[in-house]
Amino acid sequence: MDYFPFFLALRGRRVLVVGGGEIAARKVRLLRRAGARIRVLAPRLCAELDALATQGALDWQAAPYSAAAIDADTWFVLAATDDEAVNAQVAADAERARLWVNVVDDPRRSSAITPAIVDRNPLLVALSSGGRAPVYIRQLRARLERELPPRLGELLEWLGTQRARIAQAIPDMVQRLRVWERIVDGPVASRKLAGDTAAADAALGRLLEAEQGAPQGEVWLVGAGPGDPDLLTLKALRRMQQADVVVHDRLLGPQILDLVRRDAERIDAGKRRSRHTLPQEDINALLVRLAREGKRVLRLKGGDPFVFGRGGEEIAELLAAGVPFEVIPGITAANGAAAYAGMPLTHRDHAQSCVFVTGHPRADGALSLPWATLVPPGQTVVIYMGLTRLEDICAQLIAYGAPAQRPAAMVENASRAEQRVIVGDLATLPQKVAQAQPEGPGLVIIGEVVRLRAQLSWWR
Ligand code: SAH
Repeated sequence: MDYFPFFLALRGRRVLVVGGGEIAARKVRLLRRAGARIRVLAPRLCAELDALATQGALDWQAAPYSAAAIDADTWFVLAATDDEAVNAQVAADAERARLWVNVVDDPRRSSAITPAIVDRNPLLVALSSGGRAPVYIRQLRARLERELPPRLGELLEWLGTQRARIAQAIPDMVQRLRVWERIVDGPVASRKLAGDTAAADAALGRLLEAEQGAPQGEVWLVGAGPGDPDLLTLKALRRMQQADVVVHDRLLGPQILDLVRRDAERIDAGKRRSRHTLPQEDINALLVRLAREGKRVLRLKGGDPFVFGRGGEEIAELLAAGVPFEVIPGITAANGAAAYAGMPLTHRDHAQSCVFVTGHPRADGALSLPWATLVPPGQTVVIYMGLTRLEDICAQLIAYGAPAQRPAAMVENASRAEQRVIVGDLATLPQKVAQAQPEGPGLVIIGEVVRLRAQLSWWR
């Protein structure tokens, strides 16, 4: 280990900053956050520092550097001038006074280096490669910034105030440790991170009470997007890595399931045209049962859970059963197909509106679509679950007055490696699709925007 990491309690302590430019200002910003008493020694100040000096937020000594500046009241020294000789002198003087010194961007002359930080106060992450790999550190930091929720600091601060309450409710240390894990990973934290302290407080109350009885689980209803794993949201990914059990659709790409925590139990509730593996009522009941067993249940669906995903029915059931849940949206198949096939759903010149309909027949086999509204020009019609009845659908649209030459396309496996796009018109598409024998999920897009693909197709 080249450095011993520690954190300085600078509140109320004097820090001497030598230099008054932009670089010094950058450091002063951080020192102020830590509550240091800042003295800046420099003949001139940049605008930012000048404003701070005027406000009295720092003590400016308008003089060139001399060793006398490092006095008995100084705890820490920062050299931030653009003059290497001055910086070297500051470092040598501080060294002699047995004070830690940081020379900005010069680890060789520094006895203390300042790390890159991710600040979710009171949580602080400090990163350093000892000046060896700044780019790597920058990337790592960006990753952590994305990974750690913005309100994490508020959560930790608040949890700190709840410690006594939790210790009182759960006297047993081992059990308490488990409860803490559930707090940090469960609805208490997720409510607080969403900014709802009252709900977090209530969830904590319920959790502590439930710990006296049976454990309390929760359900995350998550949209996994059309298939490309890079289209998952950060929140979806986080939940996928926390779940105890995943109840998933068959529509999901295999690469997506690989991202679920490895030791999570997997339940395939997949539905296929005309072959329901699990009826919807059974899925609803299953979610409630798993949550009541105390599990964190990931209900993972293709696309978005609220677009032909029956997400509404599932959460209605959870609400009725008093099971806590959250809904995480995903990129719906129409968006995935449009983007990856190069067909914008709206376009100033060709489509001023867009409608999503389902081509899934009712139980009696009839297609109940508002045909007359799907026919006028100037809109894009997207049909989910429309492949089995594609011929009927196109024939009806023509019968209701749509031109047989209106462009239409089928996008199979949108956004996945196996994506296929078949382009035709209302008259020809059904036969072309039948010939292609699609096996993956397929979406039908009808309207002038289909023509744009010839120009806008960009993906592979
Ligand atoms: N909730 C999902 C839709 C579920 S309905 C969503 O928001 O995307 C199932 C239908 O979605 C399929 O019949 C197909 O029409 C469409 N679909 C889902 N994923 C698809 C994909 N990757 N490519 C093309 N169509 C897809």
